[in-house]
Amino acid sequence: MAVNLLKPEDMIAALPESITNLLYSDNPPWTHWGCCIHCRKFLSYNEYTILGRTRKFKIHCDCEIEHDRQQKIIEERRKKTLEVQKVFSRLNLIPDSLLNAGFKNFQTRPGSEKCYDIAKDFYRNFENEQMGYVFFGTPGNGKSHLSRAVQRSLDADGYPTLFLDWPKISDLARKAIKDEKINIGAIVKAAIDVDLLVLDDIGTGHLTDYEFKTVAFPIINGRQGKKTLFTSNLSPDRLEEWFARDKDNRPLDVDGRCIDRIIGSCKFVLNKATSYRRERARIIE
Ligand SMILES: [Zn+2]
Repeated sequence: MAVNLLKPEDMIAALPESITNLLYSDNPPWTHWGCCIHCRKFLSYNEYTILGRTRKFKIHCDCEIEHDRQQKIIEERRKKTLEVQKVFSRLNLIPDSLLNAGFKNFQTRPGSEKCYDIAKDFYRNFENEQMGYVFFGTPGNGKSHLSRAVQRSLDADGYPTLFLDWPKISDLARKAIKDEKINIGAIVKAAIDVDLLVLDDIGTGHLTDYEFKTVAFPIINGRQGKKTLFTSNLSPDRLEEWFARDKDNRPLDVDGRCIDRIIGSCKFVLNKATSYRRERARIIE
């Protein structure tokens, strides 16, 4: 026997006109219009009187508004990450020794505890952190490892991040002069856009006028107000000198624009640990 099923629209059509008018009215008689799918709270209306007519407007739950806001943030992050990956997929800008560096495989040594704690806290409180850090001290004492650990952890959490090794990026900038396939502008843009940038080993070698103008200044200037981790073997004073002049003592940034911006957006942390490589070498002796 065929069952005569009514479609929803037929059901509504079957209702008396007084009720269907209410259904389509802007001003329904009920006090709640639904229930929040997150917290199950009943959702009510706000009433406004416009041109002598009282109208009801749905009040959305804070959960829903917060949910939409979070979704938007996640979507933005995903988009940015994809853009960064597009630029960097063919470039190798992370030293092999740091590819798998994380918090778990960091070997704490006397003098590196403070740096370790700061890096870990920075990762845990990333959303609320207001400033970045410059980790400086002896080469090979774990500064880069910890910065890479922060960057990898945030990357795993879905944040757009980038780890740039300064010697590699300056090398790439030089090659870009002759090789038009290297889009240094896109790299600089990505370095500015990401939520966290690690600029590793800044102060290595000599800065050239070209590197200063195309890479160093645009990135450091563009990251004002954003969180950046720098690592350097140089003290703040020597880092300032590094930015100020090239190897032939010609002026680059004598006004200290780069160092001023770094000081303005980062705290300096001296990592007192001695070189892991040297310690290891001593053991082998
Ligand atoms: Zn809710």
